[in-house]
Amino acid sequence: MSPTTSSAANIAFAELGLAPELLKTLSELGYEEPTPIQAAAIPLLLEGRDLLGLAATGTGKTAAFALPLLQLIETGQAVPSALILVPTRELAIQVAQAVHRYGKGKGVEVLPIYGGQSFQQQLKVLKRGVDVVVATPGRALDHIRRKTLRLGSLSVLVLDEADEMLDMGFAEDLEAILAEVPPARQSLLFSATLAPRIGKIAAKYLRNPVEVRITAEAETLGDGPLVRQAAYLVRRPHKLAALGRILDIESPDAALVFCRTRNDVDELVEALNGRGHRAEAMHGGMSQEERDRVMNKLRKSTIDLLVATDVAARGLDISHLTHVVNYDVPSAPKAYVHRIGRVGRAGREGVAITLAEPREHSLLKNIERLTKQKIVVEALPTVADLKARRLELTRASVRESILEGGLDQFRVVVESLSDEFDLFDIASGAVKMGHEAMLTGGESDDEEIPVTMPPRGKNKGDSRSSTAGKRGRGRTPAVTRVFVSVGRASGVRPQDLVRAVTSASGIDNRQIGSIQISERFSLIEVADDVVEHVLKSLRRAQIKGKKVKVRLDKPR
Ligand code: AMP
Repeated sequence: MSPTTSSAANIAFAELGLAPELLKTLSELGYEEPTPIQAAAIPLLLEGRDLLGLAATGTGKTAAFALPLLQLIETGQAVPSALILVPTRELAIQVAQAVHRYGKGKGVEVLPIYGGQSFQQQLKVLKRGVDVVVATPGRALDHIRRKTLRLGSLSVLVLDEADEMLDMGFAEDLEAILAEVPPARQSLLFSATLAPRIGKIAAKYLRNPVEVRITAEAETLGDGPLVRQAAYLVRRPHKLAALGRILDIESPDAALVFCRTRNDVDELVEALNGRGHRAEAMHGGMSQEERDRVMNKLRKSTIDLLVATDVAARGLDISHLTHVVNYDVPSAPKAYVHRIGRVGRAGREGVAITLAEPREHSLLKNIERLTKQKIVVEALPTVADLKARRLELTRASVRESILEGGLDQFRVVVESLSDEFDLFDIASGAVKMGHEAMLTGGESDDEEIPVTMPPRGKNKGDSRSSTAGKRGRGRTPAVTRVFVSVGRASGVRPQDLVRAVTSASGIDNRQIGSIQISERFSLIEVADDVVEHVLKSLRRAQIKGKKVKVRLDKPR
């Protein structure tokens, strides 16, 4: 039996009390069903309740507050009806875009305001009249003090990523802003953690709030150990290339690739097919006939990639599935468990791969905590790995071809060339031809994909002056490059180096950054605070059976 969720647990957007125009927009965006935080928060927010939401980025929390807000606020007034405070400029832009997207049926005017941007430009738009302002606290306060941002008509206030705002030293600014807003407004506070400071703000400024947390209960993974769970941290613009590379290395017999929305599914299918893969879509917008046709293709191996939304994949039974790929981190641990429960069944081995954006690293941690299983963050296969893997496949094909026999008619070609060339060269030339013929066309995309390391623990001591507006979430920690005297010539691959470093020094592979392998040496980035220890340990260790020279790389 495939693990399906009972339909009662899956509430539809239409049941949440949202207005038809918003439902239409959601359908156009390809959203098929609410995420858990949305299902829990939207009805309560539509009732006008204050809310304390414990949810990290990637859970769908932006829509959870933006949709009710858009439904409830007055639009077209001279002054804003809603203010959303966020910690960073990036988030201000991102949230403003989301509000704009969700509110397009209603024609809401949204303005992001943040430090570093021209004051005049912001003023011009504010004067014209905006409905929703999305701002970083410092710049919001500047405008409030200059009376260019008037909060007298504010009916909804959202503090998004409140813990992050406090970490960035915005506590005083927040207090000052909160003192200015009308007491009758609806207030929402979102935070990834419930630190005591968050509790204090909630107690002081929220009125009888409902508290919504996304599942705290553990999720069980059935045949868990048979599934290799890996994750790669990739920024959005590099996701497609990363996926292509992972698929090339893994060469799945059949893979189910999950996306969040119908639109994402369609886009990814097109992009994958454009790169020489054989993929088809499966989503809620398709008729039963279309779905059956796609499933048949998968069963007959006419395609090997099925790209699906959670809703569409429910109840599908694909017996020969070898891989599940999460193109986006699922919005809740439960969805993760359902997705990867589709491989590693009936005693077969399976692979579950998750592509996460660096800022979504905390979602992975959340899933690990609730499933009590490790998801190993791996270094993305390099172009060199890919080349090696392709040669390996060619080697296997040549071997098969030899074993199959029927070579007699080709011997004459070899003989006739043997006067002129060495037999090794003749064989290599033939292998080259075969190898090139096997390439599918996606290889021109062997572009470099920057390697990202997961962020280490938060730096609580960060002072606001050094971080405000600059610190993107999931910023890359400080690293130092270590030189190691083995390279491609010794057959070293990135995974050999990762293994050598982790087993010699005992550090976590998350403390290793990008790895460059040259012909005779390699450069390994490791986190600053463990670099001395790594140097010492590697000097005693062997890589590929050899003692190696190890030292700090010269500064670039
Ligand atoms: P957030 O946690 O608000 O940063 O949202 C994470 C991502 O999930 C965004 O790219 C949203 O567009 C997407 N998203 C939010 N809600 C849904 C939903 N119900 N179905 C599909 N995608 C969603």
